Amino acid sequence: MTKSLPQNNGFMLFCVLSEAKGMVIKMNKFNRIYPFSAIVGQEEMKKGLLLNAINPKLSGVLIRGEKGTAKSTAVRALAALLPDIEVVADCLYGCDPDNITVMCSSCRGRLEAGENLPRKKRKMKVVDLPVSATEDRVVGTLDIEQAIKKGEKHFEPGILAQANRGILYVDEVNLLDDHIVDVLLDSAAMGVNTVEREGVSFSHPANFMLVGTMNPEEGELRPQLLDRFGLCVNITGILDPLQRVEVVRRSVLFEEDPENFARQWEEEEKKLRKQIAAAKELLPAVKIKDDMLFLIAQIAIDMGVDGHRADLVMMKAAKTMAALNGREEVIEEDVRRSVDLALIHRMRRKPFQELSIDHEKLQDVISGFFDKECP
Ligand SMILES: [Zn+2]
Repeated sequence: MTKSLPQNNGFMLFCVLSEAKGMVIKMNKFNRIYPFSAIVGQEEMKKGLLLNAINPKLSGVLIRGEKGTAKSTAVRALAALLPDIEVVADCLYGCDPDNITVMCSSCRGRLEAGENLPRKKRKMKVVDLPVSATEDRVVGTLDIEQAIKKGEKHFEPGILAQANRGILYVDEVNLLDDHIVDVLLDSAAMGVNTVEREGVSFSHPANFMLVGTMNPEEGELRPQLLDRFGLCVNITGILDPLQRVEVVRRSVLFEEDPENFARQWEEEEKKLRKQIAAAKELLPAVKIKDDMLFLIAQIAIDMGVDGHRADLVMMKAAKTMAALNGREEVIEEDVRRSVDLALIHRMRRKPFQELSIDHEKLQDVISGFFDKECP
């Protein structure tokens, strides 16, 4: 069993230095995670993460921005906010004991043979995929010798297996080998990881929420890969002095006494937890009328996006936004608030042109649409 690593690098350093000075640090402090609701600003990033947590069909989020913009903190904070899941206690993939359609072959076989699968609760996991990961490490390895000699499939699970039903966090996804990014995005889209070697193949469930981060100064992702992340957000350092002071103030309070800091934010965290759970429940009932679908199509045409995926993602994001706000029907505001996340990485652009949305133009498109609709 691997023990989870300290969740905040800054804090880890603080603890290590303090220990070196002979101070006593309570172990439970290592496990404290910065509360999601205490993150200052970065609203688009928080929105992108929340929407994906509510609706896994949004196919992940790519967070683009410079270092030190709380990307990793936000992802870990989100995981801590999500409810524990029930898993088959001894399954390597953490299968859902109540859902045979997405089980691994072993759990399915046991269930079909009449076995009562052992259960346990597990926290939402964040699995890190390091830039140096090889394909074998990501997808797992099939032991071909055993397969040929004994006719048994022996599979050593990889990172995709660990990430099943959790969050897969890929820092610096732009520095990964293109082929590995392809494999990741395929699994994220299909919810299955299939490994094939010399005519032998093995599949297991790989349903995970994909969060990629990148610093665009270190190189771009190919447009084909960009397009396959459902949502994308560009984040920058905060320029408002008041907010910057608040960032510092809160991180000092957190470092000094994480227990107390967490207590102070518990009420907000509870509220958000409830809101996520309610939105998940409401989402299947959310309707979108034709006028909103036409608005989405008009935005995609006039803003100049590539392909059709943008329309689909905008629709899904707008529905999820409605659910997050406790509504059963998509309204214009939901569409408007989904545009940046769904379109920013799908805009047609010239080489070396920055990813951005022309908000004035967007406003004109939306106003023009409604003028036409209601003469
Ligand atoms: Zn299983």
